[in-house]
Amino acid sequence: MQAKPQLYGLPAYKPGKPISEVKEELGLKKVIKLASNENPYGSSEHAKQAIIDAVMNSAIYPDGYSGELRKKVASHLSVNEDQLIFGNGTDEVIQFLCRAFLTPNDNTITADPTFSQYKLNAAIEGAEIREVPLTKAGEHNLNEMLNQIDEHTKIVWVCNPNNPSGNYIGKEEFEHFLSQVPEHVIVASDEAYIEYTVADDYPDTIPLLNQYKNLVILRTFSKAYGLASLRIGYGVAHPEIIQVMEPLRPAFNTTAYAHAAAIAALEDQEFVEQSSKRNREELEKFEAFCQKHHLFFYPSQTNFILIDLEMPGDDIFAFLLSKGYITRSGQALGFPTCIRISIGSEEENAGVLQALEDLLQERKQGSES
Ligand SMILES: *Cc1c(COP(=O)(O)O)cnc(C)c1O
Repeated sequence: MQAKPQLYGLPAYKPGKPISEVKEELGLKKVIKLASNENPYGSSEHAKQAIIDAVMNSAIYPDGYSGELRKKVASHLSVNEDQLIFGNGTDEVIQFLCRAFLTPNDNTITADPTFSQYKLNAAIEGAEIREVPLTKAGEHNLNEMLNQIDEHTKIVWVCNPNNPSGNYIGKEEFEHFLSQVPEHVIVASDEAYIEYTVADDYPDTIPLLNQYKNLVILRTFSKAYGLASLRIGYGVAHPEIIQVMEPLRPAFNTTAYAHAAAIAALEDQEFVEQSSKRNREELEKFEAFCQKHHLFFYPSQTNFILIDLEMPGDDIFAFLLSKGYITRSGQALGFPTCIRISIGSEEENAGVLQALEDLLQERKQGSES
């Protein structure tokens, strides 16, 4: 037997170790996961109640068209209902885009390092992947990404803010970029962390949809809305783009729980605003820590921070794990001497910062002896 040639050698997704396993292995009572940029404050109480209410109807298939949620999101964003497609997480919308537009004759352009799902899904379609290194500051090199476009380019991915560096692309720069991209190329703007951004010039891309038929905006309920386990995200684009993707969307790809919770979550903007505000206050503690210890960090508009400790990321990861904190080693993310830490609650952050302090102390003593 022979599967599609492009599938051989592709990595399977490596999930982080479950908390229960880490506890047992290391004999720790308390283990805290700061690895997947989840909301440490959970989700809106209204969303929780909506899930409980929806449980009564578990025997019934969900609305495959996500009709009620569609209405809600359309009105929240001031777009038409036919400009939306819902996915089992934004991950699935990324999959739809690749499946709909990429063939082995096409190429797609991404930053490097960036969110891994663009490359993985493009590889599955057999497309050529052109990766453009981030600048030293961790920013997208949009000029070089433009240079890489040719007649076979189908999708350019812009992760804004970028995971794992946390940097953002400003309004002026993004609009200039968009104006330079040929009409036959889709620009996918992944805005998974938009609710956490505080920069005044972070772009408002929704109004640009009127002008650019090739713009696709990706958003999720997994991050600031705190609904990661329910798997619900969406794409916003010109109806023509939505229409070509709809036939490849599985009929019941999103659940009734996700619909109910997302609707309630959208209605509770107070929760999102509070989460974002507290996130910023806590993120600033990490920045202050880095400044105090003269550590380089990437300026973040998200709920995570990438810190350079000038030692192997796997070693930083192992040390923090021994103290009960699951983080992400930069080595798997393309930043070999960095650690990516999701911003947790006040108590969690104090703990992981103390652990980092211990690590620096240990390193100092090691170099002195
Ligand atoms: C977390 C994340 C997503 C969204 O993932 P879901 O599938 O919606 O949970 C998309 N893009 C980026 C850059 C992310 O970090």
